[in-house]
Amino acid sequence: MLIILFLLVYTEMIRAIVFDADKTLWDHHNISEFEEPLRLIDSNTLEDSKGRVLHLFPDVKETLKELKNRGYILGLATWNFEDKAIKVLAALDLLQYFDIIVAKPYPYKFLMLSQIIVEINTKANQKIKPSEVLFLDDRRGHFGNIWLYLGNVKCLEMWKDISKYSEIFSVLSHVNNE
Ligand SMILES: [Mg+2]
Repeated sequence: MLIILFLLVYTEMIRAIVFDADKTLWDHHNISEFEEPLRLIDSNTLEDSKGRVLHLFPDVKETLKELKNRGYILGLATWNFEDKAIKVLAALDLLQYFDIIVAKPYPYKFLMLSQIIVEINTKANQKIKPSEVLFLDDRRGHFGNIWLYLGNVKCLEMWKDISKYSEIFSVLSHVNNE
């Protein structure tokens, strides 16, 4: 019985991948500070009108593109003002990769993830379970409430559990047997 339960838990496929933004997609800690006009210095670097700069981490764009190609639903869950998040994502040409963006002026990632799962299940007219979601965030502190309120979401702490973006594919191949 225990072996069967174990297999059931670990044969769950990942179907949706949700990213944090600040310090996960890029090196800036709070893009809500950014003031327009925003200026693209190169395809991975953005500067605001006061000289604040953000750099996308290596391989972010390539990874999002490849995940999209492989058919994953991509989400963003960020503690930022929505208008700022959208403007920064648009300037970096990242909007196209995300199916769902939830940006809120509070840090409760379990609420954002819950909203994302509900929206996927409403919009896409399919049933996705928390255990089919992979969540990446540089703050491990969010994971406790996610597991408490949503259940078995697979959470990875960026730069600890994985140290570069390409490792997402190793995780997926391990979990999804890709
Ligand atoms: Mg963060």
